[in-house]
Amino acid sequence: MKKICLLLSLVCFVGYGEMTSNAEENEKARSSQSASGAANVQTPIRRCATPTLPKEHKEIIQEELRLYERFYRSSDVNAMVGSTIIRVYFHVIRNGRLGNVSRKMIRQQIAALNKAYAPSRIRFILSRLDYTSNAKWFDGCFDPYYEDQMKKKLRRGGASILNIYTCQPTNPFIGWATFPYQYELNPVNDGVVIHHATLPGGSLPPLNLGATATHEVGHWLGLYHTFEGGCAAVNDGVDDTPAEDKASTSCIQQVDSCPLPGLDNIFNYMNYVEDACMTQFSKGQRSRIKSSWDLYRAGK
Ligand SMILES: [Zn+2]
Repeated sequence: MKKICLLLSLVCFVGYGEMTSNAEENEKARSSQSASGAANVQTPIRRCATPTLPKEHKEIIQEELRLYERFYRSSDVNAMVGSTIIRVYFHVIRNGRLGNVSRKMIRQQIAALNKAYAPSRIRFILSRLDYTSNAKWFDGCFDPYYEDQMKKKLRRGGASILNIYTCQPTNPFIGWATFPYQYELNPVNDGVVIHHATLPGGSLPPLNLGATATHEVGHWLGLYHTFEGGCAAVNDGVDDTPAEDKASTSCIQQVDSCPLPGLDNIFNYMNYVEDACMTQFSKGQRSRIKSSWDLYRAGK
């Protein structure tokens, strides 16, 4: 465990302040949105604003997970008994009637999470639900200034509590999340933010079956996009998700976009396909979720 702690210290020392080009693009979008107050989502295209971590941080995290799996968790995740319970604190931000999602939609969202994560032996329980009417947070939640205000006021619990916020982020992003490794550096920021209309029954078809929350919770549990790294040999840190040159947006036709073996992950929750196509986490992803939970969130 010493080695793991040493590596973890290094992550904290290096910090997560620097981000790669993908993240810079998102940050630019955030800045321009802050300045212009851009229009709301009009085209239902999945765009996730979760930043890509710097390569050197990903390497350290990968080594921590590898060591953990080698020395502390050798058993197959599929052979495990019992479930991990994750308590959800759900924060609805509304602007009058806008974004005032019903309790039924929230229950359906929790059910969608439970269906998606059942093979990972994870069960989500709604433990807290609050409604806040705040026009600035509702429309401005993608602006780091208002996001920070919102989370400082509403976030509760430690690293093991899943705080989900719904609001109306500006085009084109419909959700983002923090990674488990980032909790120590910035606990208040920890959580998942999603567009309210992506909840089951929301007004953003074909992205209204609840898969946006499932995707973002995937990041919160340590997963990267399946297309991360493109066709490079080292990509999303999971062995059984074939490399993809870019995000898939449809599951109608199977694609093989990289010379490396394997077809694109067009049914995977960590891709960009529409909700109805999202039906799978791979075995490798389920294992990474388990290790990330144990290392960075369980009991914290
Ligand atoms: Zn994402």
